[in-house]
Order: sequence, then structure tokens, then C-alpha cells
Amino acid sequence: MNISESKRLFAKAQDFIPGGVNSPVRAFRAVGGDPIFIKKASGAFIYDENDNAYIEMINSWGPMILGHNHPIIRESVIQAMESGTSFGAPTAREIEIAELIISVVPSVEKVRMVNSGTEATMSAIRVARGYTGKDKIIKMIGHYHGHGDSFLIAAGSGAMTMGQPDSPGVTAGTAKDTLLAPYNDLEAIEELVRLNKGEIAALILEPVPGNMGLAIPMPGYLEGLREICNREGIVLIFDEVMTGFRLAPGGAQELYGVTPDMTTLGKIIGGGMPVGAYGGRKEIMDFVSPSGPVYQAGTLSGNPIAMAAGLAMLKYLQSHPETYGQLLNIGRKVSEGIKKINLELGYDYTVNQVGSMYSLFFTDQPVTDFESAKQADTGLFGKYFQAMLQRGVYLAPSQFESLFLSTALTDELIDKILEAHRESMIEIHKNQ
Ligand SMILES: *Cc1c(COP(=O)(O)O)cnc(C)c1O
Repeated sequence: MNISESKRLFAKAQDFIPGGVNSPVRAFRAVGGDPIFIKKASGAFIYDENDNAYIEMINSWGPMILGHNHPIIRESVIQAMESGTSFGAPTAREIEIAELIISVVPSVEKVRMVNSGTEATMSAIRVARGYTGKDKIIKMIGHYHGHGDSFLIAAGSGAMTMGQPDSPGVTAGTAKDTLLAPYNDLEAIEELVRLNKGEIAALILEPVPGNMGLAIPMPGYLEGLREICNREGIVLIFDEVMTGFRLAPGGAQELYGVTPDMTTLGKIIGGGMPVGAYGGRKEIMDFVSPSGPVYQAGTLSGNPIAMAAGLAMLKYLQSHPETYGQLLNIGRKVSEGIKKINLELGYDYTVNQVGSMYSLFFTDQPVTDFESAKQADTGLFGKYFQAMLQRGVYLAPSQFESLFLSTALTDELIDKILEAHRESMIEIHKNQ
């Protein structure tokens, strides 16, 4: 496959942009080789600068749940553009999207729009701290909540494979207020709560973590967290930036039937535009300025073009509930196909899947938390990634990411993915 244009652009980009990219994982450091530069995307495919086509398994890290450049989103954006790109003043669309999110996401009674998932989580913990009058938060090891200082402590995905779990520039003062626990371990939470009695404002987690590769909550785990937070007066925050509107319309909280106090959203709710949101119980959200004392603002928040994209996406999902059955089917076909081929070839690697998200871990041990995820053979994953890319399948460039499938994957394309998987597995194990 000729990727000469990508190579040329990447070399040039490094003169002007740190590492040549505007977000670290894109640089392919965890898998080796040069990143491909994208010219365009449509449906199930993205195209690089040499016009090679790749089947999409990341979909912009989640937002393109209907596939790329979907006409309903494109048309909604074009229509909104006719009336101007930003006003910095309230608009009717903002009420519409807020109402829609509230009607679908169980925990959200009021919601504030922001411009990214990072902004959503940063704001949510500020509000939880303002509301409780407490400073400390609990986060899970390996979970990623964007690049806010309080979260860049044992964060997953990019931070993890870059070998900088604790970023320089995060002050010791900030770090001391972030308490860490392993995922799927209620006893560890009880212990932290005992040791920090009455000092914890919030517990934040990805209910179904996708940023250390995909892991699944053990039966009773989310319920257990809900009970502890109720008992201790801790604000329970589900970071559903990935899982919101993906695992179910109401996200993981709907799928598992556990309602947090606050929820953060992003990715899908922007339909591919920069959008995030945080919401929760009225009583808590009324602490946000100007109805309450906790300050949070944004020049472009609720931007009309971004809202038009998000609204088109969310309205489509609301009026096509069958989408979720379709996504589950696609997720199962891909992940079960992979498992079956692996077993035929004699490899018992772990595959975790929930709905349209899955991860193939190069370990035969179950992956339930960060420690077990780290047992995977990242060198072998790098080879697998390159082998799949050569065969025109675009995976997330790290072992510690989930894949995000879209409704654009037809049975025929799934067969192509599985064929590429079989060939890649044979190739990467040849000289072992
Ligand atoms: C992507 C992600 C974020 C950060 O969102 P950005 O828009 O990249 O700032 C936060 N939390 C989770 C769970 C995410 O997957």
C-alpha cells in the first residue's frame, strides 16, 4: 500500500505541530510506523491522501455512529450555516437539545452544553465540589476523563501508552485531591472512603471503561458504587462521553439500570462537531452560574452549528430506536467472528464486547481492570494493527482502546474485516 503522501505530510507536520499531531494517540507511537493522513470519509470508509480506502473501526473515536458524513447531519449543518456561525447569545436549538438529552438520559434533569468531553468532566467535578463543599475525588486507575489536571493521574489510553501516566505540569496540590482505586473492586472504594471519611466530593468513572481497552462492570459493581455514594453523601458521576447514546439511548446507566447523580457526555452528542455536556439532578445543577455560585462559561458553548449537528444525530437516534439492535448485532458479529477465528487458529485471546464496542486483548487471561489489561502483549498488538491496516482495516492505534463500530458496516464488510483478521493473525504469529 502506497502511503507516500501521508509520510510526506507527517514529516512536514512535525516541524510545525508538537509530534506532528493535535492529539497524541494519532501519532501511532504505540504501534509504530507513520500515521495516515485523512483526506475524506464517507459511510464505512475513510480515505488517505493517496486515496487508499480503509474500513472504519474507530469512527472518530465514537461520534460517527451512523458512519461518516451522514446526509442528515451534513444537511442540518449546511442549513444552520445559512443563518450564521456563532452569536454568543441564547438560541432555540439549545433548549431543544437540552430537552432531548433530559428525556433520554435517566440521571439528567438539567444540562449545560460545553465544547469537549474534557470540559464536561472538569466542570462536573467543580460543581460536585461546590455542591458538597469537599475537595477530594475518587477516580479509577486506567480510566480517562480528558486532559483536565485532576484526571491526569493514572489515566488510560494516550497517557498510558505515552509512558506518562502522571503528566509533568500537574501540581502536587492537585494530585493529592485525586484518590485512585482499581475498577471492579468495591472493597478498594470502601477502604478509600474509610481513610477519607467526610472528605470526598465525587466518585467519577467510565461505567463501561473503553480507555484501557474495553472492560465490563461485574454484576453488582455499579449498584455497589451507588450504595456507597448514597451512604457517604458522595456525588456519583458517570463519564458517558463514550458510552452515552452508544450502548443505549440513555447510555450505560440505562443499560445497567443504575442512575448516577451527574453524567458527562460528548462525542456522539456533537455528531462530529466539538461538543460536550454535563448534567444531573436539578438540585446539583442549580449550583451552576448564573443560577448558583459555581462558575463555568464558554464563548462558543451551545454554538449553533455544533448544536445543529448534535440535534440531527440525537433526533435520528430517537426516531430510529432499532439502531441499537442493529449496533448490537454488528458488535456481536465482529467480536464473535474474531473469537471463532482465533480459536480455529489455536489462540484463546480475550475479547470484551458490549453493544457496538469491543477490544481484542493479546492475552488469554480475563481483562477486568487496568492491571489485567496491562498483561496484554502490546508488541503483538502493534504487528496486528499494521497487518490490518495493510489489508485496509483502520483500527484504533493502541491495545488500550475500544473500537467503535457504526451502522454503516454491512454483512459484506464484516466478512472482509474477518478475512483480514484471519490473514493478519496467521501473519503475525508466523515467526513466533
Ligand atoms: C473522549 C473522552 C473524554 C474526553 O473528551 P474530549 O472531547 O476528547 O475532551 C472524556 N471521557 C471519556 C470517557 C472519553 O472517552
